[in-house]
Amino acid sequence: MAGFTDGSLDLTESQRLVRKSVRGICSAFDDEYWRERARAGEYPHEFVDTLADEGLMGALVPQEYGGAGMDTRETVVMMEEIAASGGGFAAAQAVHGGIYNSVPLVKYGSESMKEDLLPRVARGEASIQAFCLTEPNAGSDSTSIETSAERDGDGWVVNGQKIWISRVDVSDYAVLVARTTPKSEVEKATRGISMFLVDLDEAIGSGLELDPIEKSVSEFVHSFQLYFDDLRLPADALIGEEGEGFYQVLEGLNEERLVIAAECLGLGRLAIERGVDYANDREVFGRAIGSNQAIQHPLAEAFARLQAARQLTYAGADASADGRDADLGAYANMAKFLASDAAFEAADAAVQTHGGFGVAVEYDVERYFREARLTRLVPITQQLALNYVGEKVLGLPRSY
Ligand SMILES: Cc1cc2nc3c(=O)[nH]c(=O)nc-3n(C[C@H](O)[C@H](O)[C@H](O)COP(=O)(O)OP(=O)(O)OC[C@H]3O[C@@H](n4cnc5c(N)ncnc54)[C@H](O)[C@@H]3O)c2cc1C
Repeated sequence: MAGFTDGSLDLTESQRLVRKSVRGICSAFDDEYWRERARAGEYPHEFVDTLADEGLMGALVPQEYGGAGMDTRETVVMMEEIAASGGGFAAAQAVHGGIYNSVPLVKYGSESMKEDLLPRVARGEASIQAFCLTEPNAGSDSTSIETSAERDGDGWVVNGQKIWISRVDVSDYAVLVARTTPKSEVEKATRGISMFLVDLDEAIGSGLELDPIEKSVSEFVHSFQLYFDDLRLPADALIGEEGEGFYQVLEGLNEERLVIAAECLGLGRLAIERGVDYANDREVFGRAIGSNQAIQHPLAEAFARLQAARQLTYAGADASADGRDADLGAYANMAKFLASDAAFEAADAAVQTHGGFGVAVEYDVERYFREARLTRLVPITQQLALNYVGEKVLGLPRSY
């Protein structure tokens, strides 16, 4: 039925335009393109360059700096469509950072930083693909980060280690979150953290070293360990206010979770589509396997769960666009939780529908399944999303 299956249900006119345009752009990249990138473990440069040429990397850059100035209502559609186009969650992740990391600059960057960088991001000439927060001893517990940035003359010196930092190899700039006051010296752990803009061309080899992490999912989006050893940053690398970086990160977090939920919806839709096609085509015992309810029901159930998650995601986008921040947090965390699980169920049903071919690379559903599993871990785990709902929505005591 049109609308439910193709993601066009209840869209506004501007959302329809975004959907049509993103779908058109992505249609140039077929399944074989993504299969080949995954096989070779190569970043999809052609895809990302095409999106950049079309101005999509500047989607969240305000129009006054040459960007598209999209609001969250349009952004969720864009990211859902990118994932649904065939590239899956990994394709969305290939561009997610580049699109999202301009937000801290837009909100907190100095005017000269914005004037220098944002128009270049909007034109696709510079990218801020990397966001460096996680550390070996600080994942979910991000106020425990130990990487330090100390004032030194007229600049900063950075020391420490980060882990799981994605796309550093394909980015011109990174947003770095570091402690400018040790945790032991602040009255609240959330204070004393600051945000910096790092010019990666200048930093790598001059105080910053990278070590790739071998992983089993999102083969074409690489993640790294980062080692900072007396990396010098200029004074104007600071984004926003010294010591307030954690609050600056928090402010963008819920909106980003909502967009991740949209990427899960796209992945889930893709998996259902492939499952349904195969269930209609494949004949066993003389009839299409899709006529068996043991095949039909898991696909139908996952589809229903995706639609429910979609309602929350799109309601959250409305809350964001209307500036209802408390509602946005509740919607974003519930949507992320439900959309990840629904995408996982959809991908699992698609694999089961394919029988043995479910693990054959040429049918793609095994890749969707691995990616759906990943969405339960990043950018926050399902448990941390539930912690938010338990504490902030239900008013239960904090567990940590
Ligand atoms: C492919 C990939 C790409 C990534 N890219 C980036 C990136 O670009 N930049 C970046 O900064 N980070 C990145 N990350 C890191 C990611 O954000 C973290 O892995 C994630 O936040 C979880 O942290 P952790 O792995 O340290 O798990 P931990 O914090 O060690 O948690 C381990 C487990 O314990 C559970 N747990 C912990 N505390 C609680 C609690 N209080 N209540 C209930 N459960 C709890 C967690 O939910 C989880 O299941 C990436 C990770 C991956 C896998």
